[in-house]
Amino acid sequence: MTQVERETLEVDVLFVGAGPACLSGALHLSKLVREHDEAIERGEATGEKLGDIEIAVIEKGVEVGMHLLSGAVFDPRALRELMPDFEDQGFPFESKVDADSVHYLSARRSFKLPITPPPLQNHGNYIVSLHKLGRWLGEKVEAAGINLFCGFAGAEILYDDSSGVVGVRTGDRGVDKNGEPKGNFEPGVDIRARITVLGEGARGSLTKQLIPTLGLERDSLPQIYSTGVKELWKLPEGTLKSGRVMHTMGFPNPSDLWGGGFIYNMDNDILSVGYVVGLDYKHPDTDPHMMFQRFKTHPMVAKLLEGGEVVAYGAKTLAEGGYYTMPRLYADGVLLVGESAGFLNAMRLKGIHLSMKSGMLAAEAIVDALATNDTSANALQGYQSRFEASWARDELYRVRNFRQGFDGGLFAGLVHTGFQMLSGGRGLFDRRRIEPDYTHMRKRTALDGTPAPARIKLDEKLTFKKLTDVYHAGTVHEEDQPCHLKIADFDICNNRCPDEYGNPCQHFCPASVYEMVEDQGGKRELFVNFTNCVHCKTCDIMDPYQIINWVTPEGGGGPKYVNM
Ligand code: SF4
Repeated sequence: MTQVERETLEVDVLFVGAGPACLSGALHLSKLVREHDEAIERGEATGEKLGDIEIAVIEKGVEVGMHLLSGAVFDPRALRELMPDFEDQGFPFESKVDADSVHYLSARRSFKLPITPPPLQNHGNYIVSLHKLGRWLGEKVEAAGINLFCGFAGAEILYDDSSGVVGVRTGDRGVDKNGEPKGNFEPGVDIRARITVLGEGARGSLTKQLIPTLGLERDSLPQIYSTGVKELWKLPEGTLKSGRVMHTMGFPNPSDLWGGGFIYNMDNDILSVGYVVGLDYKHPDTDPHMMFQRFKTHPMVAKLLEGGEVVAYGAKTLAEGGYYTMPRLYADGVLLVGESAGFLNAMRLKGIHLSMKSGMLAAEAIVDALATNDTSANALQGYQSRFEASWARDELYRVRNFRQGFDGGLFAGLVHTGFQMLSGGRGLFDRRRIEPDYTHMRKRTALDGTPAPARIKLDEKLTFKKLTDVYHAGTVHEEDQPCHLKIADFDICNNRCPDEYGNPCQHFCPASVYEMVEDQGGKRELFVNFTNCVHCKTCDIMDPYQIINWVTPEGGGGPKYVNM
């Protein structure tokens, strides 16, 4: 495509991604700016007033919340700080947690642990839909006069030699599959900002470029992930008591793999049921969606779903590596917040409260930077220092070795966890080296007896094909646009991977995007059904050759998560 003229929009602070981190950050920032100026007016503080600070949030989903998915059991600690009267302000929760339990599942039986381990005790927390929570926060953000632009995907980071990051270019719209402009072509906008805050969720597409470009990972261990797959089930009216939280270990996970199930009773007879699989698996046929389907066939789970029907589906990756895998959180003109930066406590299976807190801490550092008119890394390191002095750091530091302890499987992990809990998080080793997830996947010739994960026949009543589930994710992409899964070398996919790994993309993608199909001459080639993509990022993380690059599709495309 020839050079195009782009509009430029100037703002003071740009938040990229309307998730809990950026929405809380934007809201807190607008409040802090107001308080700063009022304190100067009253003569209680010195310095210049900040005046009209332009804050903007961009979001790739067509509406706020449509790309948000979580279990979710919510710890209100950060929200209470952001909005002490949150319940009076209409906080949309499903139920307060009034019962929790942990179960070990064998193939046919279940054993309820006599005591719920303290990290999984959830009294005082809330069962929420992250979609509803995001939508509600979005309304507060707009009411505070902050510009919220939905359907705008951050496609590229804008750099300046002297100032570092100076904003983000949004993606072009109306480009055909060959990259040529269509009749409705609209070039993306350069949103230039004094400070840019990236809060794109796990494996953010801009964040993953920024971190190595600026060397922000130099002192960190590599991030490691899981993929979570989830359905909402509508049960017969009046049959489900809301407020119960169940977690499971064991079936169908092999004992050498991290993972487990969750079942949360929401309001209106909706059951949230899901399964999380660690991506540090060995066998290339491992399929998180299939494991979730098998989980539902366990007698304990199947009984809970009796008489119900699936109404929604989704999948996401979780950045679980914890404190030692977090990158440096700041650089010239830019801050990293939320799960993009590793704010997730894998032991508690919670991250929303940490993401919110990260956004708020970023906002506090931003006010100081704006007040001194210094947006350099030197000024923005105030965010890192605030984090290091916060309860969020204490919470993450206490579990800093948790997920790595499961390297050797479930039982070794439970032993390590016990030692960590007795030693303030240290355990038997501190900061053990971990490798990126894809390096654990073995070639077919090196499986050394690792059994292939079992598959079951799907009945389309209790267990579903990926395509049936994708329908329930409501995912839509304009078909005539460039594929947003950029594959650097199809020759590897078609001629090398089939023998070496058996095209694992067909298995790890929970949305049937990747398919080996035969051409007319009988040769099998990879076909990429990108319109099915639910933006989980598993392929970007797990492709064994690291030749899949997930980039943002045209703004507005993707899943339409409601109540997820
Ligand atoms: Fe997830 Fe990649 Fe499949 Fe999209 S193509 S659903 S990001 S694994």
